[in-house]
Amino acid sequence: MTPSPLAMAAAALRAGHLVILPTETVYGLGADATNADAVAAIFEAKGRPRFNPLISHVADLERGEQIAVFDDRARTLAKAFWPGPLTLVLPSRPDSPVSDLARAGLDSVAVRVPGHPLARKLLSMVDRPVVAPSANRSGRPSPTTFADALAETGVSARAALDGGPCEVGLESTVVSLLDGSPALLRPGSVTRADLEAVIGPLADRPEEGRRSPGRLALHYAPEAPVRLNATEAGEGEILLGFGPVGPGRWSLSEAGDPREAASNLFCLLRAADRETPRAIVVAPIPGDGLGEAINDRLKRAAGFVG
Ligand code: AMP
Ligand code: MG
Repeated sequence: MTPSPLAMAAAALRAGHLVILPTETVYGLGADATNADAVAAIFEAKGRPRFNPLISHVADLERGEQIAVFDDRARTLAKAFWPGPLTLVLPSRPDSPVSDLARAGLDSVAVRVPGHPLARKLLSMVDRPVVAPSANRSGRPSPTTFADALAETGVSARAALDGGPCEVGLESTVVSLLDGSPALLRPGSVTRADLEAVIGPLADRPEEGRRSPGRLALHYAPEAPVRLNATEAGEGEILLGFGPVGPGRWSLSEAGDPREAASNLFCLLRAADRETPRAIVVAPIPGDGLGEAINDRLKRAAGFVG
């Protein structure tokens, strides 16, 4: 009997190889978080700076509690949003098997239970924490389709699982519970309002946001320059709008639906880039709700965030 793709992917991870896996946010390049060599291979394959720590993905809260220290607020958030696109930054457990390299030497750890059914099955079969940063080479837009993931880092992976297009299309929301009240380090599809409805006001700790190393200025960037808040496209430029747009323009969502816009964002940036335009110019996107995360990624694609 031939083993299933899922069983082969789980075996590859356990043997220290890299695997492309679908999640509901973006495609990940996975490795056994407890195997320092496997984690090193992730940094190598992505060209990712080693000071940028990785998120450990686990099958459930119980397994999360084996690598991180959860207080009441952390458990409340986990119960409200897991499985799903929320990452919690928590104190690392002293006896955690997660390699130092995965945490970039920090005494904290980022942990998430993804919602994609294939990812969850894979994680239960592996039965170890799996680091799975986006499957793009560092600095480029995250892949939200199987084909884009293969094109980015397929050569480095021993196995690859096709889970269809990613539903969310943006990387997970990251919340730190390290000191004082919870702080939003990276906006995502679990919005500020979603979080505040469960645990009350979030703190603004921009210093911590800056320390959270995924928050580099030029990130998620296509080859073409990106210009924001545009109303017109010049010669050889592609205009990316929101809602109904005129002929010759591209829309993140004709219906003006932020969820659809989020899930189309990286895919459209990549498609626009393939046309080798002089620039990709983006019309203003409403900033409330999911718009906070969409605008965050756009600013980074344009290289605007310090
Ligand atoms: P990703 O690039 O999607 O793998 O997300 C990883 C991001 O999560 C990092 O770039 C950091 O911004 C954040 N992160 C991961 N681990 C930690 C940590 N231990 N402390 C603070 N932020 C973290
Ligand atoms: Mg990434």
